[in-house]
Amino acid sequence: MKIPFLDIGKLHQPIRASLNAAYERTVDSAWFITGAELTAFEAEFAQYSQVKHCVGVGNGLDALELLLRAYGIGPGDEVIVPSNTFVATWLAVTHCGATPVPVEPDIRTHNMDPSKIAAAITSKTRAVMPVHLYGQPADMDPINAVAAEFGLIVIEDAAQSQGALYNGRRAGSLGHAAGTSFYPGKNLGALGDGGAVLTSDDGIAAKVRELRNYGSVIKYKHDNVGYNSRLDELQAAFLRVKLEKLDEWNEERRRIADLYTELLQPAGVTLPEVSEGVASVWHLYVIRSEARDALQAHLAQLGVGTVIHYPIPPHKQGCYPEYSGFELPISDLLASQVLSLPMFPGLTDRQVEYVADAIQKFR
Ligand SMILES: *Cc1c(COP(=O)(O)O)cnc(C)c1O
Repeated sequence: MKIPFLDIGKLHQPIRASLNAAYERTVDSAWFITGAELTAFEAEFAQYSQVKHCVGVGNGLDALELLLRAYGIGPGDEVIVPSNTFVATWLAVTHCGATPVPVEPDIRTHNMDPSKIAAAITSKTRAVMPVHLYGQPADMDPINAVAAEFGLIVIEDAAQSQGALYNGRRAGSLGHAAGTSFYPGKNLGALGDGGAVLTSDDGIAAKVRELRNYGSVIKYKHDNVGYNSRLDELQAAFLRVKLEKLDEWNEERRRIADLYTELLQPAGVTLPEVSEGVASVWHLYVIRSEARDALQAHLAQLGVGTVIHYPIPPHKQGCYPEYSGFELPISDLLASQVLSLPMFPGLTDRQVEYVADAIQKFR
């Protein structure tokens, strides 16, 4: 049997007619940037995310960068980020001219450890940017508490967590503002690049709207040195179709994760843990193994596609030589052990059983 890591084609098959209709509607409107589809999607996704404003932008990295800029964060400022994340979280900070300050994760959840934040705060710290990694919200109550104590802005990186819940509240509504991504492989993915800022702060939403559009509110009047970063009409139209399916898809991911967890109990690998009060949307199902590379090769031989998220932590990347001497042992350990199993709506029980069986056979 051949089981891909991700099959977006299978996801789209049942909604093909609706995607085609969205495409035709946009072509017929002959309006492609900042129009009715974007306005409608922003309202729908804001409501879904339990925030007042959604501002569609070009991608997730831009969402985070425009947010940091909207808060006036720049050179001389420090932003606390997870040491264990996709590099884009750090890049957003660097692009603003600010300095990322890494904090290690809780090894059980892979998310930022709130008890380690206070020690990373200096007089230059302006914000903390927790990531809801693999679809599981970070432990936001203690993060918000430390941030409040030190007067920090809390910006969620919600790129992997559309629909996830923390004590009944949506990821993306848990801090001052959030950036999310509609990269095709995310839980809510466009058919191209896309992203959004989520916030209930009127002033920040207005500022991001200005920044995404050349720093302009009134056409050809520019009060800020802005960007061109808008979620286009076609992607907004596709996302409206896919948003209607998001809860159903996330439910399916949950069912697949539960089946993996049940079948892999005796498999000699470390299984992902979900904290109390949290509903993960299982963007990824990530196991750990001390023999990760051999396990991955074994699975590939049996036709099972897997991916490592992430093989090189940001502090070891070539783009960040100034961090190469940092001691971040938990992130280093995770990078050497993590393995993401096939996970997407449409993955059948038989396929999950095949993957679990293939892992059992690895000795
Ligand atoms: C995907 C992702 C981003 C960046 O989103 P893009 O749309 O690809 O720019 C940022 N942070 C995390 C955690 C991500 O997974």
